[in-house]
Amino acid sequence: MGEKNASRPPVFVTRALIPSEDAFMERLRAIFSSHQLTNQGPCVQQLEKNLAHMMEVPTLSLCANGTLALQLAIRLLGLNGKTVITTPFTYVATVSALLWEGCTPLFADIDPRTLCLCPEKTERLIRKHPETAGILPVHVYGNACDVAAMRDLGQRYGLPVLYDAAHAFGSRLHGKSLFAWGDAATGSFHATKLFHTVEGGCIVSPHAGDQETLRLLRAFGHCDDNHIRPGINAKMSELHAAVGLCLLPQLPEILRGRAARCALYDAVLPWDYGLRGPRLAPGLEWNHAYYPVIFPDGAVMRAVLAALEARDIHPRRYFYPSLTKLPYLQSPSCPEAEDVAERVLCLPLWPDMEEDLIREIGATVSSVMAGA
Ligand SMILES: *Cc1c(COP(=O)(O)O)cnc(C)c1O
Repeated sequence: MGEKNASRPPVFVTRALIPSEDAFMERLRAIFSSHQLTNQGPCVQQLEKNLAHMMEVPTLSLCANGTLALQLAIRLLGLNGKTVITTPFTYVATVSALLWEGCTPLFADIDPRTLCLCPEKTERLIRKHPETAGILPVHVYGNACDVAAMRDLGQRYGLPVLYDAAHAFGSRLHGKSLFAWGDAATGSFHATKLFHTVEGGCIVSPHAGDQETLRLLRAFGHCDDNHIRPGINAKMSELHAAVGLCLLPQLPEILRGRAARCALYDAVLPWDYGLRGPRLAPGLEWNHAYYPVIFPDGAVMRAVLAALEARDIHPRRYFYPSLTKLPYLQSPSCPEAEDVAERVLCLPLWPDMEEDLIREIGATVSSVMAGA
């Protein structure tokens, strides 16, 4: 223990997928010879079609990244400037998007079993804050929120439900993509995500006409000389879409590789010492987007983290801190989110990760836990 393994490079929480060079060069040559590098070109249109087909949703709109996808969806649903209930146990971008759209985020606590926004606590907060205009739950780690309860809340209180589905690409609930739930769902295709376009994002909405609105919102709000509404520049380039087109056919292989590596982690980690993972929603075909482990307490988690870092293995504290602790927000505390944030680690995971590395991580965790 405690020795860096000089024979291998540092290990991070994930490793970006690289498209086949031949396939990418072929697409690149076509893009360059067409001289259409961006502005809703053929690669973006093709990737939108392929993704919508794969997710079995009527339409999907690509944009420059997952944060802008959230911002566009917030505008699409008319939530900008309003009070929106969300979870404190998520990546900070969920809240940044709300703040940049002038919204007031209110945090309801999570269900400590699923780590997703708790419907009962959300309802209590809606009653306390009648100015609430919408709900923004997050499918944390690709697990599914209680979508039935959220839909019910949305209907009873007349509130749109916008899902941050940045982790959910490839997850299915009762056979349907997680993007099929909600008044809109947004995705991230950042290089660290399960499937990516280097930088990129998407919005899925079940409502007719939304794709046209999103097209305007993401491209300055005009169509030729006809200026319809204030827009922004959130377009995806042809080069980014080309990376996605090259990687998308690998999706089944990506999902299989991740599932196999999670099964190996399941086999080698010392569960008897009180480790646990999030409880997955019934009916979920999980995408294995992350490998989160919740330790019995913060001290043990930090000891494990230190032992792994001594071996040049760098898991991430997803998600730490609880966003109730953001220094630029004043928020009442959410004890469940704050508790889990203090003792969770996401272990390294990618589809072709070496099995020996998983065994080494398992052995390191085991030796720390045995000594703790
Ligand atoms: C990655 C992520 C985002 C932001 O996506 P980008 O494409 O990096 O802007 C938003 N929400 C969650 C939960 C994420 O994990």
